[in-house]
Amino acid sequence: MPVATTAAPRIIGRADHVISRRNIAPNALKVLYKLREAGFQAFLVGGCLRDVMLGLEPKDFDVATSARPEEVKRLFRNCRIIGRRFRLAHVFFGREIIEVATFRASSAPSQGEEPDADPDILPEVGAVADDGADDMPTADDSDDGDGQDRLLDGQGRILRDNTYGTIDDDVWRRDFTCNALYYNIDDFSVWDYVGGFEDIAARRLSLIGDPETRYREDPVRMLRAARFEAKLGFTLAPATEEPIARLRELLAQVPAARLFDESLKLFLTGHGVKSLAVLQQRGLLRVLYPTVGAYLDKHAGNLVEKLLIAGLENTDARVLAGKPVTPTFLFTLLLYGPIAALIEAQPSDTWHDTATILDACDRAVYEAQQRVTIPKRFSLGIRDMFAMQPRLEQPRGRRALRTLEMPKFRAAFDLLVLRAKAGMAATATAQWWHRLQEVSPEERAQMIEQLERSQSRQGGAQGAGQGNEGEEGGGGAPRRRRRRRRPAGPA
Ligand code: ATP
Ligand code: MG
Repeated sequence: MPVATTAAPRIIGRADHVISRRNIAPNALKVLYKLREAGFQAFLVGGCLRDVMLGLEPKDFDVATSARPEEVKRLFRNCRIIGRRFRLAHVFFGREIIEVATFRASSAPSQGEEPDADPDILPEVGAVADDGADDMPTADDSDDGDGQDRLLDGQGRILRDNTYGTIDDDVWRRDFTCNALYYNIDDFSVWDYVGGFEDIAARRLSLIGDPETRYREDPVRMLRAARFEAKLGFTLAPATEEPIARLRELLAQVPAARLFDESLKLFLTGHGVKSLAVLQQRGLLRVLYPTVGAYLDKHAGNLVEKLLIAGLENTDARVLAGKPVTPTFLFTLLLYGPIAALIEAQPSDTWHDTATILDACDRAVYEAQQRVTIPKRFSLGIRDMFAMQPRLEQPRGRRALRTLEMPKFRAAFDLLVLRAKAGMAATATAQWWHRLQEVSPEERAQMIEQLERSQSRQGGAQGAGQGNEGEEGGGGAPRRRRRRRRPAGPA
């Protein structure tokens, strides 16, 4: 059911907009020029234009063209066709990928809808697990745009759509007006069918078409709305906002790998703190991560919430500084509350036992996985970070040196620092570990000796460290004798 329209675009000439070739990645320009030379229409489309207009640096450059995927493939040696639901061409330039989508005659999403984490932003994210879409029909290579190659499920969700069309058709399947501008490489004009130009200027997020229908077609658009609200500070138009509260449960039917991909875009691209707030405010966190949402609702303002926010602040700062970030740390933060609650449901004398901690991690991950894929390499990291906390809080003599050598030490230490900042672990202990990493091997040996001496003075009590008192650099060793009552709990 292609959305037929006769609307003509408003064409904004080069003199009347700010999009300059200087703001466009050279490889995207190469793709556009080559398509045009081969006789095809070629436009930049979507978020990259929105971002340039807002003075932001685009995350990626998406191309829309009249060329079919096979025709694109013939033009570029470095090209691969991807996508089961919607076929797209990816043109590779080293690590950079330019996504090239053929104009489509329907309201299906295409660009950006497949799980494809950005390797430049998220070095740990490579092959995302299968999106669970095996139940979906495979696209037909010989599709000729006769309208047969489209499939909806009972809820109105689009399962497959490869119905090709013209740019006049293509615009109506895009999600928000701010994502539906086209930049024509032929004369550097911007084409606007839907008032996107004004909406960007007014910082307004408006779905194209009937909002309820568009959310039903693809419930992920609700998360995209939240993401753009958080990332761009846009205000949702009333008609775009209203159905979310009614329709948010539809997200439960979206393949878990796609929700993993969206989670990374929400939380690991520099606006995680804001994303969390928007997701909570819109009731979307309770659907995406039911256990996390329930925990935060029940314990609003507690130390775990503070820890989560402080961790997301760190992550945002790292992203802005161009440093790598990891989903392991993100999921550790998100699942901290549910894991702590599971630990505390056990008898308190087992809270520090590795078995108790690992069981809680596994259960919390299992519960989260019912909605969002957490690839194994990340869930294993969560276990390591949690399981190491008691050992970090109660360092014992030479064992501390072995702990220091463990592969996950750094990540676990980062968590300890964050917990100390949130008031969940002793700051002196975190400082002691910090110092242990910084000093020369000789000084390190001295620190261990001091720790051992003070521990034996205390009759073998764990973690005492009076001997370090007054030492320069504030490297006071851990001096808690009693086991902490709440190892990972909300204190
Ligand atoms: P960013 O790159 O900052 O995440 P973006 O708007 O470029 O934002 P992409 O995921 O890169 O988002 O998608 C590119 C374009 O494809 C969008 O601008 C939009 O026009 C269209 N698009 C992506 N996902 C959907 C969707 N679920 N429904 C409709 N259109 C979509
Ligand atoms: Mg994009």
